[in-house]
This record gives sequence, C-alpha cells and structure tokens, in this order.
Amino acid sequence: MENRFLLFLSIMLFISCSENETVNPKNIILMIGDGMGLSQISAAYYQSNDELCFSEFEDIGFIKTHSASSIITDSAAGATAFSTGKKTYNGAINMDTDTLPLKCITYDFIDKNIKTGIITTSSVTHATPGCFYGNNKDRWTADEELALQFINSNINLLIGGGQKFFKNRSDNRNLIDSLEQKGYHFISSVNDQIPENTDKLIALCAPKHPKSISQGRGNFLSQSIELALKTLKNERGFFMVVEGAQIDWGGHDNDSDYIISELLDFDKSIKAALNFAKNNNETLIIVTADHETGGYGITGKNDKTNKLITGFLNDDHTATMVPVFSYGPGSSNFKGIFDNTEIYHKIKELIK
Ligand code: MG
Ligand code: ZN
Repeated sequence: MENRFLLFLSIMLFISCSENETVNPKNIILMIGDGMGLSQISAAYYQSNDELCFSEFEDIGFIKTHSASSIITDSAAGATAFSTGKKTYNGAINMDTDTLPLKCITYDFIDKNIKTGIITTSSVTHATPGCFYGNNKDRWTADEELALQFINSNINLLIGGGQKFFKNRSDNRNLIDSLEQKGYHFISSVNDQIPENTDKLIALCAPKHPKSISQGRGNFLSQSIELALKTLKNERGFFMVVEGAQIDWGGHDNDSDYIISELLDFDKSIKAALNFAKNNNETLIIVTADHETGGYGITGKNDKTNKLITGFLNDDHTATMVPVFSYGPGSSNFKGIFDNTEIYHKIKELIK
C-alpha cells in the first residue's frame, strides 16, 4: 500500500515538473489585427467557404483593452500596452501618463542581438507600428518625427506605406539616403528582388497608406511576411510584429465587406506565419487585436444573396474584450482573461 502511494507521489511530482517546464521560443511573431473583435472574425468565417487559420490555434484567451484615459482605447494606447506593458492615455506612442518616454520591447530584443522586423498595411508611421520603435506625445502629428526616430533604431526590417514621411518631408531631408548609408536596402514594392543575405531592409510601398484589398493591394501582406522570414531567419532568432491595419478602417467606415476582405487577408498572412512555425517548432505566434471597432454585429444571412446581415453600434472603437490566439513554444501562457499589458509581460517572461 505504502509503495503504491510512493509511486503515485513520484508520478504526480514528475507531471507537475514537466508542466512547469516551458520551452522558450527562438522566434516570436506578434500579429495584431487592428479593430479585430470576435464579430469581425465570425463574419469572415460565415462569409468564407474555407476554414480559416484561427482554427489551428489551440491556446485561446481574451484581453481587456481599456486605456489609462478611457474605457475605450485607441490604437496608440493599445499598442503601447503591448510594447511597454503600461496603460497610457489615448494618443500616446510609448509615453506614460506623465508624457515621459517608455522603452519598447523591440529594443529588449535588439539588446539581446535578436533581429527585429515590423510589417503593416498602413503607413509605417501609424500608431500601431510606431509603438514598436518610436516615442511621441501625440500620434496625430507624429509621422515625420517617427520616421526620423526609425533611423537610429537598428531594427532590421520595416515594411508598409509612408514613403512621403521619409522622402518628401517638411525639413527637406531624405531619410532613405540616411538609411542606405546605415546599410539598409530600400525597395518600393515587395515584388522587388532583394540581394542575397540582405540584413537590413526597408520597403515603403505607398506614399501614405497601402491600398485596401478591394482597391487591389493583392498579396502584399503575405508576401511581406515571406520577405521578412527570409531576411530575419537566423541562429539567434527574431521578433516580428505584423499588423492587419485596415480591419479597423472597415469598422470606422461601417463597411462589412471592407472588414471581411481585410480579415481574410490577415488570415492569409497568419497562414504564412503558421507554415513557417510548423516547420521548425521553435516559433511562438501570438495573434490578437488592440480593440474592437464599430460594435459590429451579425444579425442574419440573406438566403438569396448569401450575404451576412450586419449592423454597427458606432463608427469608433468599443470596449469589448478581444481574443488572443497563440501557437508554439510558450503558447499556453496566453490562455485566460487578462489585461492587454500582460501580452508584454508574458513575452518578456519568455525571453528572460
Ligand atoms: Mg493600427
Ligand atoms: Zn481605429
């Protein structure tokens, strides 16, 4: 009897030890669907004939998105929560509530000699991508200043729109020249060939924002991910941030088709990241949103047109919790209900 009890004890001890053993990921890909609430994802599922990639994630949680200044966050405070672990006022790009600059997580990776990259379907100087390299008190007047700050960032890769904030500036500086002097390879389309072993890449594919999917953006986002994986993949690992920026704009426009087409494009980009992660078992993918936009809801489906019947509460963000999907080593840490700031702390824990 006693022997059996000892056997039971040692088995329990073994189980609890192996549960506590988290394998740290070598690569981390943080994917942010701006304005991507559960209705946005649900609409894409119901409107699509294929199964979406979200189904491949087994570890799922929810985050509370309120900022320090409002129950309704904006994208600047939302991304600052992810990049610094601090709740701040709406409009702040990596600034605390006293407007003092905060260090963002990208630089923790750079300090560890880990390659970093940022990809977005908006201008690279927009609030969400800006929070992964810059600091500014006011997102609405920050574009040129953020472009200037990027030059000294040592981030390996930046892809999106916003060429005019680098080239056609009010101070007449040409920041592309400055970046090339720092070893960056510059392209203006993700279809452009890049030299073998490119280590630093900047791709600015529109004067301001890249087109929407319905206007012909094509496979820009998934191609950007392929390009980034090629550039960032290395022995020490990488940290990559990917933003599907325009899901939010469909919400602001109360345009269900816009939301769904951008969501399906974001899903394709998740697929590109998942394909990479599945092949190496050392990549953590976290897919989440900064907030929901529009108070979007699905109230039915038209049997004749096969289109969803949808509605909106407003043309701005809402306070509803948003989902977190995670895959790969460390993914179980992202289960449950927690604050958006915990995304930062959980990533930091995994790179200690
Ligand atoms: Mg955004
Ligand atoms: Zn928005």
